[in-house]
Amino acid sequence: MAVIGGQEIRKLAETYGTPLVVYDEDAMRTRLNEFVSSFKSEKLETGVLYASKAFSCKAMISLIDEYGLYLDVVSGGELYTAYKAAYDSSKIFFHGNNKTEQELKMAMQMHVGTIVVDNLMEAEELAQYAKEADYPIHVLLRVNPGIEAHTHKYIVTAHVDSKFGISFLNEEELVQIIQVLQNAENIVFDGLHAHIGSQIFDIQAFLEEIKKLFAYSRSLKEKYDIQFNTLNLGGGFGVKYTEEDKPVPIADVCKSMIRTCEEEQEKTCSMIQRILIEPGRSIVAEAGYSIYKIGYIKKTPNKQYAFVDGGMNDNIRPALYQAKYDAFIEGKEKEEAFASYTIAGKCCESGDILIESIALPKVQKGALLVMKTTGAYGYSMASHYNKIPLPAVVFASEKETREVIERETFEHMISLEK
Ligand SMILES: *Cc1c(COP(=O)(O)O)cnc(C)c1O
Repeated sequence: MAVIGGQEIRKLAETYGTPLVVYDEDAMRTRLNEFVSSFKSEKLETGVLYASKAFSCKAMISLIDEYGLYLDVVSGGELYTAYKAAYDSSKIFFHGNNKTEQELKMAMQMHVGTIVVDNLMEAEELAQYAKEADYPIHVLLRVNPGIEAHTHKYIVTAHVDSKFGISFLNEEELVQIIQVLQNAENIVFDGLHAHIGSQIFDIQAFLEEIKKLFAYSRSLKEKYDIQFNTLNLGGGFGVKYTEEDKPVPIADVCKSMIRTCEEEQEKTCSMIQRILIEPGRSIVAEAGYSIYKIGYIKKTPNKQYAFVDGGMNDNIRPALYQAKYDAFIEGKEKEEAFASYTIAGKCCESGDILIESIALPKVQKGALLVMKTTGAYGYSMASHYNKIPLPAVVFASEKETREVIERETFEHMISLEK
């Protein structure tokens, strides 16, 4: 009997319907523990932030809160979700390259702890708004250290023309922004933030990033007497989608990063006292599964399609990034492969393919197809294309199953229509 988090898959599908997103809660807890216990240093203050864009809902925010993680948000909506989850707003980091006036003011009203500024215009606007603030707003500046680490070009974020942050090559502007922030009322400039990519498997990329950030911080101090104490190294830790992916264990990644930070701190006699990381995907991806029901099966001259009752509407990653996934048929995990199938969704779009080719035992209508590692950027990137309601989301553990997001109804979907 196939289970997720100790709960029978068939039963989950019967109780909550399909498509269904199931998180193995114990797996998430294990991972959270791993991050918190291994990203620790005796020489530096450390902190782990959950990048909530990977999967944001009240239950998820409460879960990371239990482990003492800080929280990243990138929009008013994510901020509101944190507020509704009663998360301590002083522990929130608000990112984004184009925060609106409304969003910045909402953050200030909520006393959001840290705002991560992306550009000069934002720094100037924030300095204006901060005059009315009734608390010290901590600020980091997003920089682009020019390191590219990625598994796909669409998720590159650190080339010189990136829409995110200020390039190290653009030092004049970078210094100008810091000066605007350091001269502003009610703003405490804490330091630099970088995020060098996604689904990174090469630890070296992170270590290079650390070295560049420490060196750059030192040069800012020497050249301009700019002082700050924090480096936020971003997220992007790789996860295993298919057998081809070989992520380094999180504990090892964290320990290498810590070691390098400690070494760099000593080598550069650094003013840096606090280092942060902000994983999203690596906390939720592998713990998440999507359960679909197989509908029709169709043969074309070169392919055998198995259609499922979801698709690009609940998981856009294959269509957007040619992302690869692994899957199994519930109850047939041990059976030998019968044929190669193309798993396609029900959307009116040729690109609506979830898995281009996967060897599976004989697939029949009504069987449950379970896609693995769908916990990050699946539900959070879901759409209403073709007016298909969003799936339900449950957290399954040995102890219990809890529905954390209800399945949307047709009525929900049209509730704002006049
Ligand atoms: C998306 C993002 C993250 C998280 O990235 P993952 O690949 O999910 O770990 C962290 N920091 C910033 C600024 C991001 O944009």
